[in-house]
Amino acid sequence: MKVYNLACPLDHRFEGWFASEEDCLAQQDKGILACPVCDSTDISRMPSAPHIAKSSSTDLTVPKAENTNLSGDVVALTSNDHSQLEAQVQAAFLKGMRDLMGRSEDVGSGFAEEARKIHYKEAPERSIRGQTTLDEAEALRDEGIEVMAVPFIPAFKNTLQ
Ligand SMILES: [Zn+2]
Repeated sequence: MKVYNLACPLDHRFEGWFASEEDCLAQQDKGILACPVCDSTDISRMPSAPHIAKSSSTDLTVPKAENTNLSGDVVALTSNDHSQLEAQVQAAFLKGMRDLMGRSEDVGSGFAEEARKIHYKEAPERSIRGQTTLDEAEALRDEGIEVMAVPFIPAFKNTLQ
């Protein structure tokens, strides 16, 4: 894992993580490498390489237009921060999904029918969940009914009460 100090023509400085020097050059060539502040792809490498990241498993660059605050300073995350953030985002997402599932009524395989009734005000408005086919979900969307596919959440049943 290599860490380079990078800069755009407007002298925004930021760090990029790369598997190797070749990887860095390849990303520069393809124009994937962009300044997180101004989005310029005319990126040059600064002379010093301050440190080598500890993790060698992932291939990261600073994401576009993220990790910046309002003043334009760049916040560079270490790979450790990255995995912690990912875990937090995942936990928040699962909690949100469980809350949503807990608040919705399980209508099982009658989902599409019930969703239409609610949409056409033939049934009380509420959140429902259940099973339907992909085709049916598409048809519901075409009718302007908001449906969302949810991932299977293994621990869900234990958190219902
Ligand atoms: Zn820039």
